[in-house]
Amino acid sequence: MLTTKYNFTKISPSEFENWLSGVNLSRTVLKVQQHHTYIPSYQLFNGSNHFELQRGMRNTHIDIFRWADIAQHFTIFPDGQILTGRSLEMNPAGIVGQNANAICIENLGFFDKGKDDMTQAQKDAIVTVTALLCKKFNLPINTKSIIYHHWYSAKTCPGTNFFGGNRREDCEKHFLPLVKNVAPQKPKEDDDRIKAYAIVTALMLNVRTGPGVSHAISSERAPVERTNILRVYDEKNGWLKISSSKPLWVSGKFTKNVQRYVVEAPMLNVRSGPAMRYYTIGQVHQGESVFISEEKGIWRRMALEDKWVSANFLKAF
Ligand SMILES: [Zn+2]
Repeated sequence: MLTTKYNFTKISPSEFENWLSGVNLSRTVLKVQQHHTYIPSYQLFNGSNHFELQRGMRNTHIDIFRWADIAQHFTIFPDGQILTGRSLEMNPAGIVGQNANAICIENLGFFDKGKDDMTQAQKDAIVTVTALLCKKFNLPINTKSIIYHHWYSAKTCPGTNFFGGNRREDCEKHFLPLVKNVAPQKPKEDDDRIKAYAIVTALMLNVRTGPGVSHAISSERAPVERTNILRVYDEKNGWLKISSSKPLWVSGKFTKNVQRYVVEAPMLNVRSGPAMRYYTIGQVHQGESVFISEEKGIWRRMALEDKWVSANFLKAF
């Protein structure tokens, strides 16, 4: 049975698929991040303090780090129980430069070599949750959609001993095969019906049950947030239909069309402006999807950010 406390819901691995089937997001999800909490480690888990540890993390993230909410969408505990965290309609605060379109999983423990020895129950739950998220959001099971914090940071997170190691090759060899076993890939026709992508430019944008303000605000869908990427299935009088199966609409006035591209170079520099003289502020990698909102010469602006990449290394999705 699901229990809820401090605004978090505790879900067992066997309940997760059913729980997830009731989740429908306006935000486009392309990535699942893996982390370890480091602190709290196993030492602090006593078998029944899931909610208290989760609340402690939320307090730290809000009060100390000054984030909007707890960083992660899910925390997976040593006994395999899963706790919800941040609203799934919000980008997480997990990996700098990789939070857009991502879901963040924090696995409770410290999984560097010689530290916490991950329980089988937790391993099974991590594999199950990751697989079901990939299935739900139609993500290919590879290192573009399943990403480790370590690949983008000096941190060892999710741990040098996380499923045999924290490198890309460890993930491919030891983790992805387990995930594939749980959720074999199947094409979802839904993706073919996407006509366009749009980015939300308003701080908050209501989702309505029809194309116009005379239609009620949807009771089943939270307002969408600025910078989130919406999938557009239809358009009517300047309104965008953002679900393939349900009458859910937003005003196109508060969105901007974006084009989806895939990075072709092994590594592509991201600059703070549309010219070579601007600083390199990060990289995107081969196979990664980027959403482009503006063009200037050969330069393409990523989402609504001051981040520009060269069009020479992008191909249309
Ligand atoms: Zn991390």
